[in-house]
Amino acid sequence: MTDTGTRQPLTNHPQEPITAPPGLPEAHVTGADPLLLSDTVGPARAGELETALRKAGEALVGRRIIDVNSTMNGGGVAEMLHRLQRYSRGAGLDARWFTMQGDPAFFALTKQLHHLLHGTDASGPPLDRDGAEHYGAVCEANARALLGVVRPGDVVTLHDPQAAGLVPHLRRAGAKVIWRCHIGTDDPNLYTDQAWTFLRPWLETADAYVFSRERYVPGWLAGRRVAVIQPSIDPLSVKNQPLASSAAAAILSRVGLRAPADRNGAAIYRRLDGSVGRVRRTPSSLCSASPPPADAPLIVQVSRWDPLKDMAGVLTSFAEAGGSLDGAHLALVGPDVTGVTDDPEGGRVFAECAALWHQLPDRVRTRAHLFCLPMADAEENAVIVNALQCSAAVVTQKSLAEGFGLTVTEAMWKGRPVVASAVGGIRDQIEHGVHGILLDDPRDSGSFAVQTSTLVGDHDLAGALGAGARRRVQENFLDDRQLLQQTSLYRSVADV
Ligand code: UDP
Repeated sequence: MTDTGTRQPLTNHPQEPITAPPGLPEAHVTGADPLLLSDTVGPARAGELETALRKAGEALVGRRIIDVNSTMNGGGVAEMLHRLQRYSRGAGLDARWFTMQGDPAFFALTKQLHHLLHGTDASGPPLDRDGAEHYGAVCEANARALLGVVRPGDVVTLHDPQAAGLVPHLRRAGAKVIWRCHIGTDDPNLYTDQAWTFLRPWLETADAYVFSRERYVPGWLAGRRVAVIQPSIDPLSVKNQPLASSAAAAILSRVGLRAPADRNGAAIYRRLDGSVGRVRRTPSSLCSASPPPADAPLIVQVSRWDPLKDMAGVLTSFAEAGGSLDGAHLALVGPDVTGVTDDPEGGRVFAECAALWHQLPDRVRTRAHLFCLPMADAEENAVIVNALQCSAAVVTQKSLAEGFGLTVTEAMWKGRPVVASAVGGIRDQIEHGVHGILLDDPRDSGSFAVQTSTLVGDHDLAGALGAGARRRVQENFLDDRQLLQQTSLYRSVADV
């Protein structure tokens, strides 16, 4: 994740013409040699990646590889793009990453599309003619701004519903266009139908489509070029780099998420550029009577403040657990609610959780904590998440729907036992009882509490699941695998 520079908001008034921003904000990601992954994935895997990227660089010479999404901060897409850009650039590809601009009406509509593609209705704005016109106008303005950098033959990947409306504009300009959808449901229903009815006219002319699961691919794409590419994590990123327990404890106590331990180290970490970072910022909002004691088992869920992540459900389940979780503390952790520009629901969801927290009986409230992490420095945010995940006795992801769930992958990589809902991409990551615990019914707060308290109390089981989880990620969900798939898709779309 990278800083964006100045943002130029588009007008929010439907009657006024929407003017193109002079240029879309661009992330300036520093390249990294893919061979840096050798120590983690072994020389054979790193060598295969290096060769594939180098050959792609030669085949795609003179063409840009461009990603367009709607935020550089917060959420899995931004997280992933940063690293994929990093290694692509390091291998010599001309990779660029831009973010779209939109107004609140646009992001309310695209968030509604997000919910519908997950098969749920959030009662957001209607997908009517006015909505479609506004969506089209914002996308056209963004396309005009982007056309200054896109050349015929460039390979452009547009991410999620926000960027779908750019497809026809970029195709007309001669670009090869991939639409990548990071969300979906295994059980299409009337809501998914509504979303596809809205999106399909924009998507028809794309050269290829990418989904995180086979079952997310809608029937109307039969016969088209479709790739299934699962997300992955970078073991060398600040979010996933090894962190000594003394450093993790120091970072958490520095930001007020843990009481100081007897022998805390310094709250420092290694930044991606190799320099030493020092954690200084504290949560922008919090609900916490006092930080969890240094030795209390910590149950952690890190998520955007999105109703589908069910942070409120985790809190309720923790409150209802009774004595079985006595002594354990719960930390619900999300981004600063003003920090994720394309997610208009953050403030409301955090406020609902805060209201619930205030109503909790004292004996629970003193052990439950809501934290909004600062987003001003993406690496500082990442290392706080890293420290929380490393220090957790159990990591939960009680999502009601989940495209893939990078927070699960991150926790598994740190060898943490995970209790998660058996939804979407989480099912691809965890085999129940081998790499973590899956809950068949995400709304069953009783089972959730039982499974969580079992893992808090049973260190042998927690250790075995954590070890299985780490192996699972090592073999399947590190960036070299995703980069290989992505590079092969670029080549086939560009026909080189
Ligand atoms: N994340 C973060 N800071 C926060 C909350 C979340 O860096 O305060 C990151 C989290 O570590 C993960 C990503 O945001 O890398 C969320 O990705 P995921 O696939 O779990 O869910 P999404 O938000 O894309 O639905």
